[in-house]
Amino acid sequence: MTLELDQLACGYGRQPVLTGVDLTVDGGELVCLLGPNGSGKTALLKTLAGLLAPLGGQVRIDGRAWADWPARERARLLAYVPQAHAPVFAFKVRDVVVMGRTAQWPLWSGPTPRDWRAAEAALSLVQMDAFADRLYTEISGGERQMTMIARALAQEARFLALDEPASSLDFGNQARMLQTLRRLVKSGIGVLMATHHPEHALRCASRVAIMRDGRLQRAGPPEEIVTAASLESVYRVPFVVSELPCDQPKPIRVCVAQLD
Ligand code: ADP
Repeated sequence: MTLELDQLACGYGRQPVLTGVDLTVDGGELVCLLGPNGSGKTALLKTLAGLLAPLGGQVRIDGRAWADWPARERARLLAYVPQAHAPVFAFKVRDVVVMGRTAQWPLWSGPTPRDWRAAEAALSLVQMDAFADRLYTEISGGERQMTMIARALAQEARFLALDEPASSLDFGNQARMLQTLRRLVKSGIGVLMATHHPEHALRCASRVAIMRDGRLQRAGPPEEIVTAASLESVYRVPFVVSELPCDQPKPIRVCVAQLD
């Protein structure tokens, strides 16, 4: 399956913040969006999630316009994890996760045992089992982020759209989250992920797209796109990108900002 953005324009009002975005994400591929704050990464992901109407162009999955897929089908195709999820109601973590499966429930009914099992399995995948009975309003921001990732996994969608999923995760959870994404990608899921961590793109992405000045500037293999020069042009500070000596099949690259 292929998620296809064709000359997509998106934004929060009538004025687009991004225009002319051409990008594809295949099943089994992780595409990272890099770009400075305000470059429209969230607007793009919200447009895919159906929370913002496209202001031009088209989104297609397997050649069919996104808007033409029935709502229940769409939930099985794409799961969205927002940047920060402010808790409103004091649901248990397990309940928040099972809500990711509303499209799988039989019409006019609640979750079935199969849905609860899927929710437990998703919590287990992100090692949040111990939090299942905790209240979503009474866990840390990072734990909420992991819960939202579990909810997206419980949805069992073919594509994941993730908005800075590492933003409030500690070092260990960042690594666990990347590991989980790698496994999902290997299983054929397509992932589009906005991130502020070029190193995450270097470790996990099949391709990287750089957004700046209302456009998708460049897209390509991480080693070609995440260079000191491109990071400097995106973030406007000098960087060093260096390879670590290691015995892994793929060299590990680190990115460090140069300070005075
Ligand atoms: P990013 O995720 O790359 O930081 P955003 O999509 O959040 O980019 O923001 C793109 C632009 O849209 C920015 O100029 C930002 O100020 C503006 N913006 C963000 N949220 C809203 C909103 N709710 N209403 C209007 N403009 C917004």
